[in-house]
Amino acid sequence: MRIVVKFGGTSLATAKQIREVAKFIHNTSKNNQVIVVCSAINDVTDQLLDISGHIQKANKDAAKAKLAKLKRQHYQIARDSVMGSKTRKQLLQKLDLDLSELEGLLHGLSLLGEVTPRSLDYLISFGERLSIQIVSAVLIDMKSRSVALTGKEAGIVTDSNFGSSKPLMDTTRLRVLSKIEPLLTKKIIPVIGGFAGADQHGHITTFGRGGSDYTATIIASCVKADEVWLMSDVDGLMTADPKMVKDAKVIPEVSYVEAMEMALFGAKQIHPRSFEPLLSKKIPMRIRNSFNVDNLGTLVTANPSEDTMRTVKCVSVIRHNGLIDMRGGSMVGAPGTAATIFSTLAKAGINIMMISQSPSESSITIVVKKQDLDKAVNTLEMNLLGKMIKKIDVTTDVSIIALIGSGMRGTVGVASKVFGAAARNGVNVVMIAQGSSELNLAFVVKDSDCQAAVQALHDEFELASN
Ligand code: ASP
Ligand code: MG
Repeated sequence: MRIVVKFGGTSLATAKQIREVAKFIHNTSKNNQVIVVCSAINDVTDQLLDISGHIQKANKDAAKAKLAKLKRQHYQIARDSVMGSKTRKQLLQKLDLDLSELEGLLHGLSLLGEVTPRSLDYLISFGERLSIQIVSAVLIDMKSRSVALTGKEAGIVTDSNFGSSKPLMDTTRLRVLSKIEPLLTKKIIPVIGGFAGADQHGHITTFGRGGSDYTATIIASCVKADEVWLMSDVDGLMTADPKMVKDAKVIPEVSYVEAMEMALFGAKQIHPRSFEPLLSKKIPMRIRNSFNVDNLGTLVTANPSEDTMRTVKCVSVIRHNGLIDMRGGSMVGAPGTAATIFSTLAKAGINIMMISQSPSESSITIVVKKQDLDKAVNTLEMNLLGKMIKKIDVTTDVSIIALIGSGMRGTVGVASKVFGAAARNGVNVVMIAQGSSELNLAFVVKDSDCQAAVQALHDEFELASN
């Protein structure tokens, strides 16, 4: 098989982990063509973002101290993970080059005292630039042949939307193919930096946080891989958050659309656009645990097999949100009410997670992230209260609970089971929303009821019994 294997930062936190990861790649490559995609070492992207913050606040010493820490961390891991002295020496030289470029960049940015979106992408792309050198060197240390490539070097070309770029797929396909195919023919394992590419002018761009998943699927689509494996520190997509539900189980198989819903709901964070490149070629994805490789994890395909079909596949939760209820007689039968409310919030940069309107049209309820709540209420009060809206009610700590599963489509009685189970457990349902795709049934409860509700639904749909 030809497999793209992506390792998240939590799989690359220590020298020991990196050696374990390399061993897995080395073994897998005996019978397969393997292309590796790596995130930055655990926490490094956050550290780079902190550095940017310090520069913007003209806190030069703090930025320098952070950089020094980052350097120490990488040199230490490099020394501890490579045994052969020649390979180790070469690795340290490569890190020297990258780290002095990073140091130069920090110096330049500090002089300017500002970090533009373009320079931020350049700055935060260094995490992956460093991690791929280490992983590739450890593979060489284990007598595999390997080469490290940044996203740009691998041929990923994107638009110039810094911070959340998209690949230009046709150009990317040509470049990635001509770069990667010859390596695979020569049995050389490419270790590609996730998260970043470059625009047509050669400026580094990134795909947004968690973007290495996206890199993996883009590469998979370009080289027509048989499978993509996303390796992290969890066993796969789960029927519920195991921290909340003790008997939560790994879900063996889901469809792309179900996985997309689950990714959005944060059951396991996957970059939401990651599925796009897989759809047309129907390339299967596996979500696996780097440190439990006997477990095959969750398989994501276009059409999951019949015996994995279930009405509901998982109960996901987004905790700690704010709910805003808007009322007013003048909202009834007045076209443009919703448009005005939503555009007012949009102008203030507030993202709405859930919406519901009663058919009487006298109230609209929305849910926003907790950190947006103050601003949202403020904006509504300043612009619309006393005019279109007569009254605003706020509930500060609510959770969204979502049931996900394509088997709900057209199945009678799901809602009665859901709300019956909630009622029997004394959970009050504050708000409900279901799109007509019937893939996702979401409702809102007080956060203090969240645990009980999730467990009750997990039991009701018997998700612990596979
Ligand atoms: N290193 C990047 C991040 O932390 C990309 C990734 O991990 O996928 O967001
Ligand atoms: Mg990540």
